Amino acid sequence: MGGAHFAFTDRWGGVSAVPYEELNLGGAVGDDPAAVRANRARAAESLGLAPDRVVWMNQVHGRDVAVVDGPWGPDEQIPAVDAVVTARRGLALAVLTADCTPVLLADPVAGVAGAAHAGRPGLVAGVVPAAVEAMVSLGAEPGRIIARTGPAVCGHCYEVPAQMREAVAEVVPAARAETSWGTPAVDVVAGVHAQLAEAGVVNSRRSPVCTLESRDHFSYRRDRVTGRLAGYVWLTESSRGTPPGPPGGKQNDGS
Ligand SMILES: [Zn+2]
Repeated sequence: MGGAHFAFTDRWGGVSAVPYEELNLGGAVGDDPAAVRANRARAAESLGLAPDRVVWMNQVHGRDVAVVDGPWGPDEQIPAVDAVVTARRGLALAVLTADCTPVLLADPVAGVAGAAHAGRPGLVAGVVPAAVEAMVSLGAEPGRIIARTGPAVCGHCYEVPAQMREAVAEVVPAARAETSWGTPAVDVVAGVHAQLAEAGVVNSRRSPVCTLESRDHFSYRRDRVTGRLAGYVWLTESSRGTPPGPPGGKQNDGS
């Protein structure tokens, strides 16, 4: 993978109580903040990451992208964005979901990573192409970007009113779908992959897991009050351990 790392959690292995059991990583779903902190620390450690080197977003179903160089400060307000990109190796970007599509992106050559949260509104708004564009502005090339989408509600389960399906399909035709029981549906994952292909990202793979069908994953549509899964992306730091660059500057590890 050339130094690019992608990880998606499931719901097990954490400390949260019902209905957030067990590994809820979402801080805005009503769970005990101490449990969320403990879960985030556990998840990070299991991935070999320092918990304080993970960047979280305040996701709002939009298409805004934040360019980050480090984690948010303790008193810093986390911006309302649905994608985050970085040119900082070793910094992990995290996206929270429970049915929406988590999108992880990395150009290991440029040392640029991105994470995006694409639900139906984000798909229509184009948050994924916006994230790719922001990565390109940091030196990434779409043809080099590796894209991974994680567990999400599938097109056979995500039922919507007929009018909504047509509105989505007008913007992203690939998202037009039908439920397994024959009613109108939206396939956000298919739509995201179509957008990635259109943006020139050819190395893309999807998780086969449907959150609504899997009891090992949180699903908002199935359970309403529930936890959040996380996807993490990061690039390996240079083995020589390059010191951090100046604020706002890009890290040059010479590889
Ligand atoms: Zn499904």
